Amino acid sequence: MNMPESLSALSPELDAADRSLVEGVLARQLRPLAKTITLIESQREDHKLRAQRVLEALLPHTGGAMRVGISGVPGVGKSTFIEALGLYLIEQGLRVAVLAVDPSSSVTGGSILGDKTRMELLSQNPAAFIRPSPSACSLGGVAEKTRESMLVCEAAGFDVIIIETVGVGQSETAVAGMADIFCLLQLPNAGDDLQAIKKGIMEIADLIVINKADIDPAAAMRAKSQIKTALHMLRPASPNWTVPVLTLSALKKDGIAEFWTTVTDYRRVLTASGEFDAKRRHQALAWMWELIDSGLRSRFRSHPQVKQELPALARAVEEGATTPSIAALRLLGHL
Ligand code: GDP
Repeated sequence: MNMPESLSALSPELDAADRSLVEGVLARQLRPLAKTITLIESQREDHKLRAQRVLEALLPHTGGAMRVGISGVPGVGKSTFIEALGLYLIEQGLRVAVLAVDPSSSVTGGSILGDKTRMELLSQNPAAFIRPSPSACSLGGVAEKTRESMLVCEAAGFDVIIIETVGVGQSETAVAGMADIFCLLQLPNAGDDLQAIKKGIMEIADLIVINKADIDPAAAMRAKSQIKTALHMLRPASPNWTVPVLTLSALKKDGIAEFWTTVTDYRRVLTASGEFDAKRRHQALAWMWELIDSGLRSRFRSHPQVKQELPALARAVEEGATTPSIAALRLLGHL
């Protein structure tokens, strides 16, 4: 479906190296795919430009995958679940890419999310592609790179893209902002659901999964009814979709097929109502605005006059010699 109709239609500015990346990705080869993502993740200015040119050429071939966001606290069973789900989907004849958003990867210098050793069988499967979280200085940077990598994976013909994130901080919102369906993994113990509500995570979930149901099935059922009750208090994101709560065991591979049926139901229902495409359009626009915001911020900070005046004005604000609004207006005036 995503195969190139005509490679000659590619942007003429592409040089030989970039062109071979584009052709390799479209031919569904994993090496050019990995190299393109490395280019996207690079901090070098010349690499950034090349990455954008390659992305632009790939863009007409994107959009064909189901984008599935998976979140949950460390230990809930994300990698066990993603491996089981990935292998199940491959059995159904689909190709699966796993990406990750982990802002802490910049601190630790690496990420345990999307780590190949955590998904050993899946990582060895030729129908799978697993990429750990990029390390970048901010969550915005990590999310932007993951989102662009997702588009490259789509151009490479992957049918399902799983984007993994941890259940801490704001990374869930970032992943929900790029996924078609956002799934929250929970443990079968009480109190966990309340935590999720407090953090506002349950509000953005389209599907909730209680994992490790094999340990104590009765506890899992209790958790399920508690979460369902809690969900009643929240306003549904879509009038056509009541957030389902599933129980499963990633370890025993029990409930994986039901999970996927629910995901495809979601897609069918929201496609019929027009919400599926509307959500993607909205996400793309929101992403553009985020890039504009961060671009303006970095241009502002690197503006020579701003750099020159900022220290003195900041001191004046601290000392009460001028007001924050006067200082801000003056600095913004340089843009
Ligand atoms: P992650 O940190 O969220 O990626 O969690 P892992 O997938 O690494 O799982 C953490 C631990 O829970 C591992 O020891 C898994 O074997 C175990 N685990 C994961 N899913 C299940 C499950 O469905 N049932 C049981 N009993 N253990 C599980």
